[in-house]
Amino acid sequence: MEYVDLLNCMRCGMCLPHCPTYKETFLETASPRGRVALVRKVQDGELEVNEQLLEYLTLCLDCQACLSACPCGVNAGELVAEFKCEEKGKGGLSFMEELVLRKLVPHPERLERAMIPLRLYQKTGLQKLVRSLGLLKMFPPALGRMEGLLPRLPAKPLRKTLLEVTPAKGEEKGTVGFFLGCVMSLIFSEASHATVELLSSLGYRVITPKAQKCCGAPNMLGSDLKGLQELATFNVELFSGYDLEFIVTDCGGCGAELKKYGHHLPENGAAGSFSNKVRDISEVLALHADDLKGKLKPLSRRVTWHDSCHIAHAQGIRWQPRTLLNLIPGLDVRELNEADACCGSGGTYNIAQPEMSDLVLQRKVNNILATGAEYLVTANPGCLLQLKKALSETTPRVKVLHLTELLSESLAAGLRPVSLRLKTEG
Ligand code: SF4
Ligand code: SF4
Repeated sequence: MEYVDLLNCMRCGMCLPHCPTYKETFLETASPRGRVALVRKVQDGELEVNEQLLEYLTLCLDCQACLSACPCGVNAGELVAEFKCEEKGKGGLSFMEELVLRKLVPHPERLERAMIPLRLYQKTGLQKLVRSLGLLKMFPPALGRMEGLLPRLPAKPLRKTLLEVTPAKGEEKGTVGFFLGCVMSLIFSEASHATVELLSSLGYRVITPKAQKCCGAPNMLGSDLKGLQELATFNVELFSGYDLEFIVTDCGGCGAELKKYGHHLPENGAAGSFSNKVRDISEVLALHADDLKGKLKPLSRRVTWHDSCHIAHAQGIRWQPRTLLNLIPGLDVRELNEADACCGSGGTYNIAQPEMSDLVLQRKVNNILATGAEYLVTANPGCLLQLKKALSETTPRVKVLHLTELLSESLAAGLRPVSLRLKTEG
């Protein structure tokens, strides 16, 4: 964290109406301006780090809506996250953090094995029983919330079934790398399968290096900068071995983290080149809007788009997904009020800060319902999990989809849907 970033805040307050935690509390300590002031006081030696201070800072969702609103480019969310990393660096990781962030997250095969009991829990019908009998109330609160977020898992993680090289369909126009996020592979495999199909149908040869590891976003959430740097170093070296036009991801959280590898590894020149090549799938598809337009078939649906914080605020991507949705003939695209406001997911924020997360989520759900849309479309796994759960409980008629699932459905309208193709290929 640079001290000068703290000085850039001129205390104008323009960020306040955009900060989800301020909107719910109207407290200065829960605002970007207040958080920057608190960190500055610590840096100036006027305030000691204590539990109360950490509580104020931990309430920040790191949604970075403040960055989009600030005329001085102050990123209060990132300042808070980096401050917490510095503090964690002094005390070290707890046993549990060490176990999850260093022993589990960096090892895709261990993550995959950890999902087997969950798959059995669903396959044997135990989950249905637990939910129908209301037994979740008897779980410890954090575990109960985690269980509640768990959607239907795919039969296999996509990492196991996706080819390392997917050939281009038709004339080859270039080669791209695909960064397959852990949650996308383990939970939203249909969406990532659709992503690779879309790239291939546009003439890209798609390389998905099987050895790739987590992007490191969970480490950043756990204030574990060292763990993040180790993962970043590995991924940079791996992808540098290929000649790639872009490194594409369909996970907003991964994209935001991968684009910061140059910042996290300032001494590693290859990290900057890696980050410069990273693109969200919507950025690549939007480059081929004319080509796509000729391929997409009509879908008669009412949809609305939720801007994930990691995509809109952290990566500045806004018009591309909207352009893509408007390419689908027959689609009734309705703009969502406060479309770029956080949904309250925040990685593990919805588990760690359930009360604030629920308040922020309720506001998002009310706005979604006001559009009258039948489909909520977004492109970040955290938002997909959070909104799938909330809408299935309150308004099951509203389905939640990843952008590439909808585009792929339109591309293949009249053919077998992606879900069926994936089951037979898996
Ligand atoms: S963070 Fe930016 S918008 Fe907020 S008070 Fe400071 S200068 Fe103003
Ligand atoms: S990152 Fe989000 S929650 Fe945190 S201060 Fe900025 S706007 Fe508020």
